[in-house]
Amino acid sequence: MDSRHLGIGMTSQRTRLRMVERLREQGIRDAVVLAAMAEIPRHIFVDEALATRAYDDSALPIGFGQTISAPLTVARMLELARAGRTPIPKVLEIGTGCGYQATVLSRLAIEVHSVERISALLTKARRSLRELRVTNVRLKHADGTLGFKGGAPYDAIVMAAAAAAVPDELSDQLGPGGRLVMPIGTREQRLVLIERTDRGFTQSVLEEVNFVPLLPGLMR
Ligand code: SAH
Repeated sequence: MDSRHLGIGMTSQRTRLRMVERLREQGIRDAVVLAAMAEIPRHIFVDEALATRAYDDSALPIGFGQTISAPLTVARMLELARAGRTPIPKVLEIGTGCGYQATVLSRLAIEVHSVERISALLTKARRSLRELRVTNVRLKHADGTLGFKGGAPYDAIVMAAAAAAVPDELSDQLGPGGRLVMPIGTREQRLVLIERTDRGFTQSVLEEVNFVPLLPGLMR
């Protein structure tokens, strides 16, 4: 790691370990997710002016009206998606944003596909992933409203933007035992977990969340 990755003061390893300690106190039990988040320098993914807030319990702006999800949100989504599988063979992320969650996923999965509709964000994410030498994440400029057929079937799908309902196409892209985690709702949102079992699909409605909306179409 170079010195920027190591960080100092509010971007140091100690600050990151404190973030992980808080996540544990907030109920995250998955040691593999926590270990990955203890390692990945989150401050690399935000503007330098915001770097000292990168380990706070909050979402932060990343430009284009989008946000990097709060640490607790990322940890919770990935804990639900992983369900103890080490590693997850293949994952799809919808909404790359700055690429932070995709980088955490790169430590939990063998192969990660991540799609983003805003090309400028993808360019930045690509830079950060290269800087951190992440090689098992494939980024694609695409509208993920209906998932991404190119890599299907997936063992897990995580959507980082809220939709009004679960698109059938998304659950169809799950392989056997696959898990889809996404926020559902317009004004009030809830995390929903869809599992593909031998007998079909099960759906669990979980806690209230607050994500940016899933939007159609591509943007430069
Ligand atoms: N995964 C990010 C969170 C990004 S916020 C993190 O690590 O913090 C959600 C992202 O979803 C935004 O960048 C937004 O542009 C993107 N998004 C919204 N609708 C989309 C769509 N239809 N297809 C792909 N990406 C979409």
